[in-house]
Amino acid sequence: MDPRGYPIIAVIPQGPGEEDYGALSEQRKLVLATYDLCAVCALPFRDELRWQVTFDDQLQQMGEKPTFNEAPVHEVCALYAAQVCPFVSSPHARLGDSQRKGQRRAETLTLAGFTRTATVFGQDSELQVGKGILMFEMAELRGTHRLTGADDARDAYEAALRDEARIDPDDAERRVIDILCTPTPEGEDSGPVMAGAAWFIGAAFCPQIRQVQAMKRFAEAKDDLYFQIAANFLDKPDMMAEWEDASDASTAAAVSWFHTRESVPAVLRQWRADGARRVRDVRGRRPRPASATAVVPRDEAAIRRRRDAEAALRKARRRKR
Ligand SMILES: [Zn+2]
Repeated sequence: MDPRGYPIIAVIPQGPGEEDYGALSEQRKLVLATYDLCAVCALPFRDELRWQVTFDDQLQQMGEKPTFNEAPVHEVCALYAAQVCPFVSSPHARLGDSQRKGQRRAETLTLAGFTRTATVFGQDSELQVGKGILMFEMAELRGTHRLTGADDARDAYEAALRDEARIDPDDAERRVIDILCTPTPEGEDSGPVMAGAAWFIGAAFCPQIRQVQAMKRFAEAKDDLYFQIAANFLDKPDMMAEWEDASDASTAAAVSWFHTRESVPAVLRQWRADGARRVRDVRGRRPRPASATAVVPRDEAAIRRRRDAEAALRKARRRKR
């Protein structure tokens, strides 16, 4: 459990194997980017800084538009992770994966806090050719923590805990977080189903998303289903309200979340604006991305089904604790 009482989701509990782990983590990154959630505690950022991990003088070399292959985290979550991270806690740790095996570890871990995530896009991986991954471009560096050992990490963590702002997710955010942090009823990671729902509400328009191999199941779906639904949502926003009653918990949660936002997080807003430029309806008109929609009659039976599904999720989660 992390300091905010949520299970650490950056570590996948039951990864079937290395390759699948990579796919799961890309799908989770897409979900985190869509809902603007922290990669450690899964709570929203609100107006807190978004922190990324760098080594030695890497940050200075990253230029005007620093991009990272990990989703950002809260300050207190970054400092918590730093204490349990082998780079910091064990002085002789080495980089473990096959490509980097044997290299000397970095001397300094620099945590960098940015005001905002500028954009999220797909890009070919430097480590694995042909396997596109999601990149997070960060903007407006506001602070750093330079950590050279476990004591630094602990002191900074304790200071951050004292200043920590409480984050209370609203009901729609809570539903998204609950699903993300709970295995599916079949005992599988919820990342893939949540990523599909994220496509529907606008992640389909993330630049170069189709180059990310983990998104293949969505990119190559029959009739380009995920993209077409996303395009429909842009074009016919009142259709979204009906989907709030979808029997699939991830889709219902995604649409309810979207529908109840006063403003959509900047990254998703940008994806949807990009989408609106690309998509045309049958008359050749561009859709206008809307964040609020008309109210339509509710399907009470579907609401009951969804509530049952959510209750089952909560039960599964309690069992896991
Ligand atoms: Zn966090």
